[in-house]
Amino acid sequence: MAGLSDVPDPYALAVRLDGRRVLVVGAGTVATRRLPDLLAAGARVDVVAPEASTEVAGWAAAGRLRLQRRAFRPEDVLEPEPAWLVLTATGAVDAEVAAVAEQHRVWCSRADDAAASAVHRPAVARGAADGPAEGISVAVTAGGDPRRAVAVRDAVLAGLESATLPVRAHRPGGGGPACGKVWLVGAGPGDAGLISVRGRALLAAADVVVADRLGTAEHLADLPPEVEVVDVGKSPGRHGTIQDRIHELLVEHARAGRRVVRLKGGDPFVLGRGGEEVEHCVAAGVEVEVVPGITSATAVPAAAGIPVTHRGVSTSFVVASGHDGAAGLGPLLHAHGSTLVLLMAVAHLAEITAALVAAGRDPATPAAVVERGWTPQQRTTSAPLGELARVAAARGVTNPAVVVVGDVAAVPLAARADDPGDR
Ligand code: SAH
Repeated sequence: MAGLSDVPDPYALAVRLDGRRVLVVGAGTVATRRLPDLLAAGARVDVVAPEASTEVAGWAAAGRLRLQRRAFRPEDVLEPEPAWLVLTATGAVDAEVAAVAEQHRVWCSRADDAAASAVHRPAVARGAADGPAEGISVAVTAGGDPRRAVAVRDAVLAGLESATLPVRAHRPGGGGPACGKVWLVGAGPGDAGLISVRGRALLAAADVVVADRLGTAEHLADLPPEVEVVDVGKSPGRHGTIQDRIHELLVEHARAGRRVVRLKGGDPFVLGRGGEEVEHCVAAGVEVEVVPGITSATAVPAAAGIPVTHRGVSTSFVVASGHDGAAGLGPLLHAHGSTLVLLMAVAHLAEITAALVAAGRDPATPAAVVERGWTPQQRTTSAPLGELARVAAARGVTNPAVVVVGDVAAVPLAARADDPGDR
């Protein structure tokens, strides 16, 4: 940008316009585009233009601004009272308007020539309400290249909204996302890359993270030290009252005005007790929102190359907990036409597979157990239904694992590269 170095850098300011008179000369496309921000800033806007766009006429009719349909006169800058700021977008007399403003020491922005203007509006964007960037304005100037400024602004805002850039509020309650709220965020299974963009952004803006052990460790490692992390990880059957403690923690922290992320493996509402946590928050009058996650029920079979539905093979799948053994499956034991996906089923695998065969599923039905999906330790064990429990026991299969029963288990698709499979 040759030549620009001769001109000193502009001085950046954020200006309060509420209740202050702003004169806008012109009411065509450009002025119309600029007016909403001025009105949103609370300025008392006077528009002077021989002709006005329908929008400007509408705002005038609604009493949001004053419109005078005539040509600019020099006294408009000072009457009925001096303007604090002048915007000119006439396509004809901008230089003249600017000269009058300059003479009276009123800042003037020229739509026709930003470089010749005493002030110019940077490219501005605000973080969306209720998102992690709420309360943040990004304003970018890029010399005489407004498109470059817009591109940079958009990239910065996208980085904030997705929390790839740091966005955490440093003053509690200081204009960040709504305070005192709980978000149940699904972290997906195994790999930290399987969280949603929204979940990741909320995590980056959290004051407190209440996390399960399964599938959340990598996310916790990334959090800055000032974030309070409560690990409520539980191996099955260890404590009876952990769930009550979780409910208490969520409510306590939210009531203290903190942004609480309840980080759960997979999807919060798939065998994750997320529903109870929501009910508890609602009953306690605490605002709560669910951010869905990728459930292990579909994603872990996928990691092993198994599609839970496949054209010509299966058009439905059912997901069930194997935690309570065959008794917990009820009518699903007879759902022979569907792919059966079982979570928490390793401990009862022999009993469950025997019950499925007893209920009429062909013992030759293809089946598989996928352990630790989406981690470097992923391993798939495949066997016909009638032999699955024996083979799995021989190979020392352990939790966490997803069991798939159905013809799709034999569909030869690509598994993740580091899955050693049955070798
Ligand atoms: N809400 C979770 C499920 C919680 S129940 C979800 O939607 O995925 C816990 C069970 O999920 C485990 O016992 C196991 O069956 C399954 N699971 C979760 N993560 C897994 C992983 N990475 N690999 C294999 N199974 C997994």
